[in-house]
Amino acid sequence: MTGTIVKSTGSWYVVREPAGQLHRCRLRGKFKHKGLKVSNPLAVGDQVDFTVEEQTEGAGVIHHIEPRRNYIIRRSVHKSEHAHIVAANLDQALLVVTLASPATSFGFIDRFLVTAEAYSIPVTLLFNKTDLYDEDLADYQDQILKMYARVGYPGLRCSAHTGEGVADIDALLDGKVSLLSGHSGVGKSTLINALVPDLELKTAEISEFSDKGVHTTTFAEMLEVRPGTYLIDTPGIKELGLVDMKPGELAHFFPEMRALLNQCRYHNCQHLHEPGCAVREAVEKGRIALPRYDSYLSMLAADDNRK
Ligand code: GDP
Ligand code: ZN
Repeated sequence: MTGTIVKSTGSWYVVREPAGQLHRCRLRGKFKHKGLKVSNPLAVGDQVDFTVEEQTEGAGVIHHIEPRRNYIIRRSVHKSEHAHIVAANLDQALLVVTLASPATSFGFIDRFLVTAEAYSIPVTLLFNKTDLYDEDLADYQDQILKMYARVGYPGLRCSAHTGEGVADIDALLDGKVSLLSGHSGVGKSTLINALVPDLELKTAEISEFSDKGVHTTTFAEMLEVRPGTYLIDTPGIKELGLVDMKPGELAHFFPEMRALLNQCRYHNCQHLHEPGCAVREAVEKGRIALPRYDSYLSMLAADDNRK
């Protein structure tokens, strides 16, 4: 049988058949992940082949994993430890943010966007809590939406409380596997409640099939919005980990900078104070937004500190 992993607690995997039937499965043998040292061989979103055998008392045994289209990792705190694969085979990521109580920082948003860019996963920004906006904040919101749309990240306004934008988010999800992410407190859980029908029933059903001995709320979970439309929630995961980047590569993951890189005088330009820097010139002329450039600078500095 084939199916999709909808939850993984380390020792057990919950696999969903295309028709919706859930199975509790174990992994047979060892699977080596190429390249990266990872702590989990399988992740939510993985497509697998499995068999249900009599001697395993109804539990399935996974014996094949389809090659991944993409995956994202959460880097562990200690660099020497293995990375953790959060999810695989994503069509897109939706980042819930807000300009109101507490406002999400551009630094957080841009780090997420750089990560998604590195994994080639398209992102839409969901600006939640618009019911709290006054006129000034609404104007500011329009500017921010434009700033991100210009560099390739569409966004929309929503309110989990009034329902504004929820139908638009639902349309965005349609027929896709989407990762929903966000800083705690932005209203991610409230939005998931509005988007996934019978949410409590569905999560209860999935946890029936996962390892009951383990506290399962911190594991990623793929929820069915309707057949063919899935949302991956990643509770407890604040930030995604970057793939290893060579120094000087960071600007490649800012689309508005990437377009200018071959115009800098020096091929190894870091876009700080070098003469003939096309990126700095674009910042000065207002073609690159200052908050985005600031994010670039702080990410560059953080990268230096790690070395
Ligand atoms: P999470 O940590 O991202 O899952 O956030 P929650 O869904 O738990 O929401 C955090 C807080 O923000 C709760 O008090 C929610 O009631 C509130 N909240 C969520 N969405 C909205 C919204 O659209 N408008 C307002 N005013 N509050 C919201
Ligand atoms: Zn430059």
